[in-house]
Amino acid sequence: MLKGKTALVTGSTSGIGKAIASRLAADGANVILNGFGDAKEIDALRAGLERDHKVRVGFSGADLTRAEAIEGMMADAAKDFGGVDILVNNAGTQFVSPIEDFPVAKWDLIIALNLSSAFHTTRLALPHMKSKKWGRIVNMGSAHAKVASPFKSAYVAAKHGLSGLTKTTALEGAPHGVRANLICPGYVFTPLVEGQIADTAKARGMTEEQVKNDVLLAAQPTKEFVTVEQVAGFASFLCSPAADSINGADLSIDGGWTAQ
Ligand code: NAD
Repeated sequence: MLKGKTALVTGSTSGIGKAIASRLAADGANVILNGFGDAKEIDALRAGLERDHKVRVGFSGADLTRAEAIEGMMADAAKDFGGVDILVNNAGTQFVSPIEDFPVAKWDLIIALNLSSAFHTTRLALPHMKSKKWGRIVNMGSAHAKVASPFKSAYVAAKHGLSGLTKTTALEGAPHGVRANLICPGYVFTPLVEGQIADTAKARGMTEEQVKNDVLLAAQPTKEFVTVEQVAGFASFLCSPAADSINGADLSIDGGWTAQ
């Protein structure tokens, strides 16, 4: 379905991003991975996707909190792959703390990674997409792009901001064949959530088991974590012709969390 397209998936060495990169490779796209992690494991992932799906897979270790690093990653994508046709802004991180104690450096990090990096990749990807009259931008939001939870001020602010960036990108891209949407998952069981369970337990004075059942899944009426494969399938659908009229939408995949 995506043969001949190149997809850049940020934060794809782990969790949701890794599942999306794998799914888009299975759909036939060449893929550029990005993120941190063990060099050998990343290379095994890269080589495995090339072998299994007969596509080209590159890797950029760019630190997306730095605009110059993003510029370098996008320049390499243009040089090695001819540009990015599908941009998945997925890299993100979380920190849990009451506002009055929220470390300023953590606020700056989360805004830079979860919000500003998507502005930089988008501004650098759009000229190529417009010239091709086709582009798909999938931003990774969260239920926290629609509603808040206590102690997650930076994350909630960044994800609400990403919703605004998505809508603006959708309007500017619409006449040029570019579509931009925001996927808003509920709790997906990944390393990010595992870390959050421990942090939330500390912030709320609860056990980790209580956090899992009474805080996380309490919000999710299905009482099940969303799977990375479900989110990847959703991203794949948004790159398919059936989704050509979906643009500027905040799309929930949260087991009914934000229906309440
Ligand atoms: P994860 O921690 O498993 O993966 C995060 C990825 O981002 C990794 O590949 C990591 O190396 C990369 N990364 C971290 N800092 C980076 C930096 N400075 N530069 C480049 N890459 C960096 O997380 P995940 O749970 O898969 O989350 C992925 C996205 O999905 C995030 O935007 C997150 O907010 C969102 N999300 C997650 C959940 C959930 O429940 N897991 C729910 C809703 C939204």
